[in-house]
Amino acid sequence: MRVCVVGAGFSGAVIARELAESGTNCLVVDERGHLAGNCHTERDSDSGIMIHSYGPHIFHTADQDVWEYVNRFGDFMPFRHQVKATVNGKVYSLPINLHTINQFFGTCLSPQEAKDFIDQKVQRGMIEPKSFEDQALRFVGKEIYEEFFRGYTIKQWGVQPKDLPASILKRLPLRFSYDDNYFDHPFQGMPKDGYTKIVKNILQHEKIELRLNCAFEELDEEFEHIFYSGPLDRYFRYDLGRLTYRTLDFEEIRTVGDFQGVAVMNYPDDRIPFTRITEHRHFAPWEERSDKQLTVVYREYSREQKPGDIPYYPVRLLNDKKLLSRYQERAKMEMSTTFVGRLGTYQYIDMDTTIGNSLEESKNYLARK
Ligand SMILES: Cc1cc2nc3c(=O)[nH]c(=O)nc-3n(C[C@H](O)[C@H](O)[C@H](O)COP(=O)(O)OP(=O)(O)OC[C@H]3O[C@@H](n4cnc5c(N)ncnc54)[C@H](O)[C@@H]3O)c2cc1C
Repeated sequence: MRVCVVGAGFSGAVIARELAESGTNCLVVDERGHLAGNCHTERDSDSGIMIHSYGPHIFHTADQDVWEYVNRFGDFMPFRHQVKATVNGKVYSLPINLHTINQFFGTCLSPQEAKDFIDQKVQRGMIEPKSFEDQALRFVGKEIYEEFFRGYTIKQWGVQPKDLPASILKRLPLRFSYDDNYFDHPFQGMPKDGYTKIVKNILQHEKIELRLNCAFEELDEEFEHIFYSGPLDRYFRYDLGRLTYRTLDFEEIRTVGDFQGVAVMNYPDDRIPFTRITEHRHFAPWEERSDKQLTVVYREYSREQKPGDIPYYPVRLLNDKKLLSRYQERAKMEMSTTFVGRLGTYQYIDMDTTIGNSLEESKNYLARK
């Protein structure tokens, strides 16, 4: 008997590869017609631009083993993610740093002066911040919270910030330097030929059979074990109810030239219906493009996921957490299935964590075998 791996995203691909390398035959199924799950990239046939089909994906990690692992399967180009925000007709630097503070308040403060200045604005007196709003007011003060955090949070999560738990905002999201690198991990990059090529290379092994356009539910075969990276509630046919997710809609714009000069521009204002605009050509700055060429731009809208929509972000509010623990109890009883990945564990995880977890899960399985 062989092992079934449900999902050909990073979770499924890494597990299948690890098992295959140790001599186990695997069947990998994915109901989509392409590899790499939500990290899927493909070249647009008109412009030649590498499109991040399900939203912008930047590889960043502090885990050297994971970095070395992905580099085995494809070349990475240096890439530093820099994000801007348009607020009330002005463009600001993100994450909020000394430049943003000086721009926003029209000041010329040094790092220490900015710290003292923000200190006077924040509500440190708040003993136990209960909500995201309390926490944000404690960290950044009213003005920055209202212009940069409030509207974005409402649009992204469909919930008022006072109804979100404080735990979402754990650290002080301000930098008192001019460092505007979005991620501070030591290893960062963009795959030269896209993520899908990397996943294809991971799955290229004689002991792996791949079946695309095939849902797990259609299979009629006995397996030694199942690694399931699909939605946890779906595995149990939503018996106990549905876990809530946010889904995304992308409105594509095709125009000529450079649309916004940066890969990602956020729009925190809740009077603007989209959350951000992505211009894909800027994910590959090493690919020469003239301003006479076509550019492909996505406006991104967030909304509640309904049956049939792609699940993107797990919401994890109180009710979801209760339902999640009930599903987790059921999952523990499924001795021949291991639930993995962002959907199988119902948590937001970056690609590096996904890969690290999959390496760990395969090791555990092989040790038990
Ligand atoms: C908008 C957005 C931006 C992101 N940006 C970043 C970023 O910049 N950097 C970063 O590190 N991470 C980012 N992430 C996270 C990244 O997308 C995830 O870490 C990664 O996709 C997780 O891989 P996975 O294999 O667990 O899940 P997925 O990629 O979702 O793969 C699961 C696969 O399983 C398939 N499947 C599900 N159910 C079944 C079934 N029953 N039968 C058959 N197939 C099934 C699906 O079709 C899918 O292809 C982002 C996520 C989102 C939503």
